[in-house]
Amino acid sequence: MAKPGYRVFDTEVGELRRMSPHFVRVTFRSDDLRELGWDGPDQRIKVVLPLEGSGFDAVPSDADWFSAWRALPDDRRNPIRTYTIRDARPDAGELDVDFVAHGDSGPASRWISAARVGDRMLVIAPDATSDEDSGGWEWHPGAARTLLIAGDETAVPAVSAILEQLPAGARGAAFLEVPEAGDALPLRAPAGVEVRWLPRGERSTDYGARLVEAVTEWADAWVAADPGAATVPATAPAAVRELPALDDDDVLWEVPEAADDGGLYAWLAGEASAITTLRRHLVKGLGVDRRRVAFMGYWKLGRAEG
Ligand SMILES: Cc1cc2nc3c(=O)[nH]c(=O)nc-3n(C[C@H](O)[C@H](O)[C@H](O)COP(=O)(O)OP(=O)(O)OC[C@H]3O[C@@H](n4cnc5c(N)ncnc54)[C@H](O)[C@@H]3O)c2cc1C
Repeated sequence: MAKPGYRVFDTEVGELRRMSPHFVRVTFRSDDLRELGWDGPDQRIKVVLPLEGSGFDAVPSDADWFSAWRALPDDRRNPIRTYTIRDARPDAGELDVDFVAHGDSGPASRWISAARVGDRMLVIAPDATSDEDSGGWEWHPGAARTLLIAGDETAVPAVSAILEQLPAGARGAAFLEVPEAGDALPLRAPAGVEVRWLPRGERSTDYGARLVEAVTEWADAWVAADPGAATVPATAPAAVRELPALDDDDVLWEVPEAADDGGLYAWLAGEASAITTLRRHLVKGLGVDRRRVAFMGYWKLGRAEG
């Protein structure tokens, strides 16, 4: 049987850096991480959080540990949350993850506010010793000429890593909504990609409003200037234009394959309602081919992951 593309890594907190009012960078360290893989720039990973009292004692070690984990009773099942590789140095056995500290409403956010150097952490991440792709990344711009990248604070690590690996001649815009102005982290982007930080500031609970405004304005202007680069080719099946109605329980996640023509590629990630609004505006409102829009509305205000 082929070795799975990802596995559990046993690590500990090597370093903690408060990067800004809401971002804390954790460098996880261990010899185990020398086998860490990193298949794509927006590589997602999972952190397995310790249970109070029993830590990681109940985490199954079977080959099919995920089914065993799911079968555990609620009070013995360690919470698992999704994060992104911000940077990794497998040669040194190091992995950086930027955590948004959003208070004590969730186990991951609670963990980051109390984390100490030396704390143990289990991380589910790509295994470099496997020939399989981890499947945990979605950045597929293909031959796109213009890039539209948009996300909230939870997408800042992925967007930063995406921007850093773009070719020097890349063109487009990246919009990042963050809690406050001090959360604009240093990042490197090609000169042709405008990076716009959008602090919520006093509109602190108005998640996604600034992102929706700014991206809508940019997209309207871009489509008006270059309508042919956004729309569906005449040969595309009608279903490509149709967006199903989404109810509250739908997974708001649709990622296209890389297109080989050179139009727009949009990558949208963050709180579900803002990302859904943006995708709807692009596809329904402006007629952008849905195969040009990767959308990941992966966290919902008021609802825990899992
Ligand atoms: C592919 C992917 C990559 C991700 N990468 C990162 C990353 O690199 N860094 C990162 O910080 N997050 C990232 N996230 C988001 C992270 O998984 C969620 O924010 C997660 O809900 C945090 O878990 P929690 O235990 O803190 O809160 P949960 O227990 O899941 O939720 C508890 C409550 O907190 C609210 N909540 C959750 N997240 C936030 C937030 N950011 N701000 C305000 N309220 C919130 C929920 O709506 C809920 O009401 C990523 C998610 C996905 C799917």
